[in-house]
Amino acid sequence: MQNTQKTKLVPINEIFVSISGEGSTTGEIVTFVRTAGCNLRCSYCDTTYSFKEDDFMSIEEIIDIVKKNNTPTVVLTGGEPLFGETKRDLAIELAKHFNVYIETNGAVPLFKEKEVEKVRKTLHYVIDYKTISSGMNKRDLLDENIELLNETDEIKFVVGNHEDYEGVLKVIDKHKEMISKKKINLLFGCVFEEIQPDELVEMLKEKNDYFVKNNIKYKMYLQIHKFIWDPNKRGV
Ligand code: SF4
Repeated sequence: MQNTQKTKLVPINEIFVSISGEGSTTGEIVTFVRTAGCNLRCSYCDTTYSFKEDDFMSIEEIIDIVKKNNTPTVVLTGGEPLFGETKRDLAIELAKHFNVYIETNGAVPLFKEKEVEKVRKTLHYVIDYKTISSGMNKRDLLDENIELLNETDEIKFVVGNHEDYEGVLKVIDKHKEMISKKKINLLFGCVFEEIQPDELVEMLKEKNDYFVKNNIKYKMYLQIHKFIWDPNKRGV
């Protein structure tokens, strides 16, 4: 990685090819581009190693790597990939070449419609809504960001306990018309080793009538990479 100030440089933690473990890309071989730096400090963060911004790459270098990887889909993750101007530039440039899923913590503004109108078909958001147990719930910007979502985007709820789930249901209820109208996909997952998947299944089953009645698309997901490899293994 180079470290000059001449071109627009993006703080990058790692770039690797692997299987996508969650969301609508689950099971696809994708390139992960993990940007460095985050505006939050979630209690259960499993990527604290990405906080430090000490390696930089140009946008061109990153695009070249993904082209060589020959993966049509890129998962742009972090850290927070929309926190910082050059990272935001990277997201738009990647979407000119690839199908890009931006895993954002939802505590930063999404792009305004005008900014991404030329690439919106290949630029998708996966908002990781910050539940109460993350300790970052108050930083969430869903009230503003939800207007900018469409049917190719997802809101992910990582549930660590019943209090989290109750909080999530309130948020969904507040936005239910918008979620239904825009056909936004809702994803539910477990904070790893805090709540068992079968418990979450039961919680979802109990609310199924509500979701169906309100025409809300929802799914549970498991982070399959944590079952394939050691849960703490990096770069997989
Ligand atoms: S937003 Fe993501 S990277 Fe940032 S602290 Fe929370 S879990 Fe970690």
